[in-house]
Amino acid sequence: MLTVGIKDEAVSVFWAKAMDDRMRERSSSGAVFGLLAQHLLDDGGFVYGAAFSDDCRSVRHVRIDDKDELGSVMRSKYVQSSVGVDIYKGVERSLKDGICVLFSGTACQNAALRNYLLLKKAPMKNLLLVEVVCHGVPSPKLWSEWLEDVSQKAESKVDEVNFRSKSTGWSTYSVAYFGGKELVRSEESSRDWYMRAFLQNASLRESCLDCPAKRCCGSDITLGDFWGIEAIHPEIADSLGVSAVICNTEKGAAALDAIRSCLETGQSSMDEVVKGNPVVVHSVSPYASRDEFLEDVANNTSVECLMDKWTFEPTLKQKARRRLSALKRKILG
Ligand SMILES: Cc1cc2nc3c(=O)[nH]c(=O)nc-3n(C[C@H](O)[C@H](O)[C@H](O)COP(=O)(O)OP(=O)(O)OC[C@H]3O[C@@H](n4cnc5c(N)ncnc54)[C@H](O)[C@@H]3O)c2cc1C
Ligand code: SF4
Repeated sequence: MLTVGIKDEAVSVFWAKAMDDRMRERSSSGAVFGLLAQHLLDDGGFVYGAAFSDDCRSVRHVRIDDKDELGSVMRSKYVQSSVGVDIYKGVERSLKDGICVLFSGTACQNAALRNYLLLKKAPMKNLLLVEVVCHGVPSPKLWSEWLEDVSQKAESKVDEVNFRSKSTGWSTYSVAYFGGKELVRSEESSRDWYMRAFLQNASLRESCLDCPAKRCCGSDITLGDFWGIEAIHPEIADSLGVSAVICNTEKGAAALDAIRSCLETGQSSMDEVVKGNPVVVHSVSPYASRDEFLEDVANNTSVECLMDKWTFEPTLKQKARRRLSALKRKILG
């Protein structure tokens, strides 16, 4: 069983953004994760999060104990991250040794770790579970083949990817691909074919279509993008991003209090968060021909042929949202 019979209840709900703009540039949303992690590392703790492999072809969870390595686990990677048994054992060992641990990942990853630690009777007093709001995770096979295709077309081996480049804004983020530190390709997410497949729910894992872990994974804090903040607080919305922060436990609220001096924050509610971000509580609906698309991927259809057959043209709603964002950018200068 995935969950542990818990229903996550919001102790407090905020909008938040780091005062340090550079931190927000390096993050997907308002950089709350980065600040929580920095604080824990300063106190001698360990942080576990999702990082790319050296060649960027896959994503897996790693442990970091140094602020210089923090960048590797910051920012969303829209690929399923593998959490190896060494990670579970590492967290268990650290907790039994009295070391503070911050584990961050999707709700199902938080639930799985929590189940494991309960089974092993590990003390959880020093564990902070940080969950990222999760739309779903795409197929690692598709990612690795897509990246190969991008590399071939760019005639450069892509070894660094920023899924959340804010060069075109926060809500209209771009995906930037680098080879040997050089930018080889950058496209708004609505134009990047891999992101289109992801955002139209064509490449997601089966379990994500009926997520068993939403609001019941036992995490201390849930972090997401505060989509729709401009309609609630136009004065704080900007192109570097705002986080939605849901503290599910008193421990989570205390961790947030410890970094509050580095944040601009304001009171919010679950209703406000969910209005712009229904995936906080609901699973997404699959792309109509998802099964056929994933069959083509499984049958080793080349990316070129996949792109010809599956264009994933933006829906009318996505087009309208893009036009609206472009208009707002123009008005705000
Ligand atoms: C696959 C995926 C889908 C998401 N979908 C939504 C959504 O629909 N709506 C929404 O509001 N927010 C979504 N998020 C969360 C959002 O993008 C930010 O991660 C979150 O707001 C935290 O941002 P931050 O600025 O505080 O820190 P960041 O530095 O951006 O946070 C990065 C955190 O995300 C974790 N992470 C990164 N990639 C993965 C991965 N592949 N698997 C597990 N953990 C990962 C890292 O370990 C780290 O804790 C998604 C994140 C992921 C990874
Ligand atoms: S949608 Fe649910 S099952 Fe899918 S990765 Fe996210 S938390 Fe896990």
